[in-house]
Amino acid sequence: MSIPTTTPESAVPAADPGPAVANLETIVSLAKRRGFVYPSSEIYGGINAVWDYGPLGVERKNNVKRAWWRSMVQERDDIVGLDAGILMHPQVWVTSGHVGSFSDPLVECATCRRRFRIDELPGAEGLSATDLRDETIVGRLGLACPVDGGALSAPRRFNLMFQTYMGPVQDEANIVYLRPETAQGSYVNFKNVQQSSRRKLPFGIAQIGKSFRNEISPGNFVFRMREFEQMEMQYFVRPGDAAAAAFEEWLPRRRAWYERHGVSPSRLRLREHAPDELAHYAKKAVDVEYRFPFGWKELEGVHNRGDFDLGSHARSSGENLEYFDPVSEEHYVPWVVETAAGADRAAFTVLIDSHHEEEVKGETRVVLRLHPDLAPYKVAVLPLLKKRPEIVDLCHRIKDDLKRDLMAVYDDTAAIGKLYRRQDEIGTPWCVTVDVDSLEDGAVTVRDRDTMRQERIPVARIRRAILDRMEAARAD
Ligand code: ATP
Repeated sequence: MSIPTTTPESAVPAADPGPAVANLETIVSLAKRRGFVYPSSEIYGGINAVWDYGPLGVERKNNVKRAWWRSMVQERDDIVGLDAGILMHPQVWVTSGHVGSFSDPLVECATCRRRFRIDELPGAEGLSATDLRDETIVGRLGLACPVDGGALSAPRRFNLMFQTYMGPVQDEANIVYLRPETAQGSYVNFKNVQQSSRRKLPFGIAQIGKSFRNEISPGNFVFRMREFEQMEMQYFVRPGDAAAAAFEEWLPRRRAWYERHGVSPSRLRLREHAPDELAHYAKKAVDVEYRFPFGWKELEGVHNRGDFDLGSHARSSGENLEYFDPVSEEHYVPWVVETAAGADRAAFTVLIDSHHEEEVKGETRVVLRLHPDLAPYKVAVLPLLKKRPEIVDLCHRIKDDLKRDLMAVYDDTAAIGKLYRRQDEIGTPWCVTVDVDSLEDGAVTVRDRDTMRQERIPVARIRRAILDRMEAARAD
């Protein structure tokens, strides 16, 4: 959770690698054209900061979520999953501090009435949290409306939670909130999970799910949305040194997760929150940042939250949320180390970072070098001659066989060169081409997206060959 950790643009480090794609528009137009992301409710003019995932986008985002779940839950013995409700008891958000202080500093233009997050205005980059609380900041920095130059109001706090009513009566007593983070579901279920799954500390609870924030200045495509998905893990540990040690383990592990899934190490960095930027309960917070086309921005936060969460919920609910440590025979309130990532932001990052344009035989080839685990389709099966029914038939048999294990598609709507380029542009790691010889020798050509190398493989071995390649990519 980010009570109010506005993320000032950090100083550019000595060696700025530059963004993978100079112009964000390249990604926005590819995303729309190829069916990764569309503006929500587009036929009605769209709705600000909500985006819909198209056929390829939903595959990619599901793959990101699967990859996260695999490394956080499936491959670990000490983390279990949870899927808590989006609507929770309203007291949860009072206790967590969200009702009181989950807000951003907002300024309003006196002439055009547009509202801005003050730390996102030109001239206000890099402000400290103390600056952001300063009522005289607009005058002190001489800030003006970036649209029409109008005078700006003093900053005031704007709560980011969406609220609605539960039941038929729309009054104060029935207000409920759309959760702005998944973490609270893990805290209030701590005892349920610990006891039902017989967990000993340290152990973690992982969740993936929708969160909602009424962001003041959303933007940069799917970077900052009002409805988005988070992938958060709360790791419960013994108070004190154990939490500090767990933090130091989780931070490099989380950075490595992005690298393992193909994000350039040079475009990742860690940024520690300054003391005055830390949320009031946080002992330590470090962001994993990525060099987006619009600057270094947070991809994920790793936080040592102390006993704030379980301690506050215990006091507020009257439930005893202490843990009995069978080794030390002590009762204590566990501390929490949190890893808080965004599924949309991670999916966006891999889309940007995998985008390459290169010259091949005098033509520009656009290729998404997505990690095979994240690619929407793993294989495209293509006929060299679509007029030959035996070739088309063999293509469908190969594709159907592959589909038992992974996403495979058939396409015959263009000549082979064009079909390859189309698959390159959406990141399909392998194309399988069936030609006339295949009917004689029972072999097909497998083309690698990145090297463009082609290899002849017997039809009977195709499925195994692709699965081996997938496994090899995962082991890299
Ligand atoms: P920011 O400073 O970008 O607003 P935050 O510090 O508020 O982020 P957290 O509360 O730590 O973020 O949320 C964890 C993660 O959830 C973020 O690192 C990000 O990946 C994702 N996230 C948060 N807000 C949004 C949003 N409005 N749109 C998309 N993803 C988001």
